[in-house]
Order: sequence, then structure tokens, then C-alpha cells
Amino acid sequence: MSDLLIVPRWPKPWNVNALITTRQGGVSATPYDSLNLALHVGDAEESVLQNRKLMADAIGEDLDFQWLSQVHGNKVLTLDQGLVAESIEADAIYTRENNIACGVLTADCLSVFFCDEAGEEIAVAHAGWSGLATGVLERTLDNFQAEPGTLLAYLAPVIGPCHFEVGEEVRDAFLDIDNDEISDQDSILFLESETPGKWMADLYAIAKIILASRGVKNIYGDPLCTYCEFDQFYSFRRDGDTGRFASLIWKE
Ligand SMILES: [Zn+2]
Repeated sequence: MSDLLIVPRWPKPWNVNALITTRQGGVSATPYDSLNLALHVGDAEESVLQNRKLMADAIGEDLDFQWLSQVHGNKVLTLDQGLVAESIEADAIYTRENNIACGVLTADCLSVFFCDEAGEEIAVAHAGWSGLATGVLERTLDNFQAEPGTLLAYLAPVIGPCHFEVGEEVRDAFLDIDNDEISDQDSILFLESETPGKWMADLYAIAKIILASRGVKNIYGDPLCTYCEFDQFYSFRRDGDTGRFASLIWKE
């Protein structure tokens, strides 16, 4: 596979495919270099559309691509009659349809893939701290007909506790969601930062706790930090004005 694409390692059914794009192999100029897939970040539209074509060519399957207008909320788009407008505001996509690649775009936020063990249902969620704290993973799980214990989830690269410094309001938002496990592990999930009054937050660990508390047992992932891995990923915290990479899932 080309350097544009990373294949997550998780024991998903044969007919479910997931990919994570890197920032490599595209045509966008600095600061969006080079495989920026987001139209909303100030990059030239023709570059983004060409990058999307390069990505589709690298995948090499006959797929439609569903993107969203992500708003850091908890709304889930259910696709049951083909593609809908990219301007739809939502932060997760659920479908049972074949050959529609459901994508979310991130630069530090977490994205999570879901499927059932039979490969009939799939979803992807965009989960930054605000989406995580307001239940985007739980709302996504609500769509599944399969029992949570039979689902598989995969957590994509996200800004790590090495770099995700947050204020009191972020920590409070998670302590307010009334999850005993998060309260119990508060001192691990939010390590005191060198900056007074700030914490280093572990979104990856928080997401695992939220999923487990909803009965998801099969949780996989590769906790790469998007900020640390500057060759591979965009990072909003690191670069500010920058591109977005994609997490894509589809079934055949
Ligand atoms: Zn880091």
C-alpha cells in the first residue's frame, strides 16, 4: 500500500474495510501539505478535490465517499439511501449500505471505527473532547442493532497526553458526565501540567472507558500522537493553520 494510506490492524470481518490517510502524497501547498482532504480549512478547493481523487485512486475500489460538516457535536447521520450532501452537520456516520466509504476528517481529534462481528453494520465517529463529553460515541452505539458486546471498535491516532494540554473546563466536562470510571481515574486521565491550572488529557484512554462502560469489549487501536508524528499526520495544536487527514470505513 502507498504512503498515503495506513491500514488499521484489528480483527474486523472480511467485508469491512477501514483506512486512515496520512498527510503524504498530495498536491496541497504549505501549510496544507500535502494530502489535505478538508474543504473548510482555507486550502484551494481544486487541490482538495485532486487530493480526494489521489486518495480514491490509491484505494482502488469503486466507492462513493460520504463526508460531513463536522461541528464537534453528537449527531449521527444514518445513511440508508445513498449519499447525502457533505454540508449535513453531524459528527458520525452509521450505515448498513455497501460500497459507501464513510469518512471523518481530523487533525488531533479522535476518530473511532465501529462494526459488528457479522460485518452488517458500520460506523465512524469524530470525537474531539467536546464530542466525547457530549456523547457522540454513545449516540453512535445507539444505532447498532447488534449487542455492544459483539461490536468491534478501533481508535485512530489522536493527540496524546504528551501534548493535549487542557483547562479546567475540559476536565470538568468529563467529570460531569457521571461515569464512575472516569472519576476514579481522574488523576491518570488528567495529569497535572507544568502550566499551573492545566492538565494533560488522555482522550484515547477516556474514549476506551466510555466504550467499555457501554458494553463494548473488543476495543483496538494504535495510540500514535498526531502532534508527535509530524511526518504522518496533521495537528491543529502543533500547526494551527493546517490540513485534515481522513478515517474511512466501508463494507462490501
Ligand atoms: Zn505528542
